Amino acid sequence: MASPDPIDGLLALDPGARGIGKFYRPGAARAAARSLARGKRVVLTTGFAVGPGLAETDGPPGTAVLGRALRLVGKSVTYVVDDVAAPLMEAALKALGEPVEVLVLPDAGAVEGLRRRLARDRPSHLVAVERPGRAADGEYRSARGDSVTAWNGPLDALFLSRPRGARTVGIGDGGNEIGMGNVRRHLLRQGRLAKKIASVVRVDHLVVAGVSNWGAYGVTAHLSVLAKRPLLHTAEEERRIVTACVDAGGVDGITRRREATVDGLPLSAHAAMVELLRALVDRKIRGGPRS
Ligand code: CA
Repeated sequence: MASPDPIDGLLALDPGARGIGKFYRPGAARAAARSLARGKRVVLTTGFAVGPGLAETDGPPGTAVLGRALRLVGKSVTYVVDDVAAPLMEAALKALGEPVEVLVLPDAGAVEGLRRRLARDRPSHLVAVERPGRAADGEYRSARGDSVTAWNGPLDALFLSRPRGARTVGIGDGGNEIGMGNVRRHLLRQGRLAKKIASVVRVDHLVVAGVSNWGAYGVTAHLSVLAKRPLLHTAEEERRIVTACVDAGGVDGITRRREATVDGLPLSAHAAMVELLRALVDRKIRGGPRS
């Protein structure tokens, strides 16, 4: 039997005790990376507002890191967010030294126009990192079960009616994000709250991780292995990106405090995850001992 991928082992850590083992998808980060590596034009979206003007720190860092990696391997990259998440996305890109070009959905009514505009560019992929996906009743819901529809634009509509030929990737950690429609069957068995928040929005590749940013870093790690070059950010950059997101108005999605944490975990924990992933990538690229 093949050994489990050690990158999967890291992504499957469940610091929030959300029971992600029940809907974790082994091999999905690698499969998403392989698909993206074959793509040409990638549209990335992110941003989860837990209250009015309160976009959380999980999502934009992962999106910026994955977007940079895709740009470095020659893909055309477009970032699309709503007005609430725009300051965080821009701050994350700036902190990484990336071009700050972000398409912003000004209001819910503009989504069809945005969809047509994106379709004109014939994207090969749409990627969502920690982006609300509607539940069966059409509402976006927080992990607590509250409706957050008022504060999040309908960017999941891009995935429900995707541009022709585009493959879709969803990265999430809670069950309420774009892509979790793939594991809805599992979520429905996890109790009343999970059932209430479970998204119906499906994707071609669903990447589950203990923290959504980690899922995006996991896909970036696999892209690095495929490209045989390190594409991940450094632990120092991780600190800088998350801090920049907070300075731009971001809050922790769990504590809802305006502080440099992600999903209730301190920067040191996220920096450690980045270091671990970098070490695994380094070993795989050098052809070190198989694990
Ligand atoms: Ca999260």
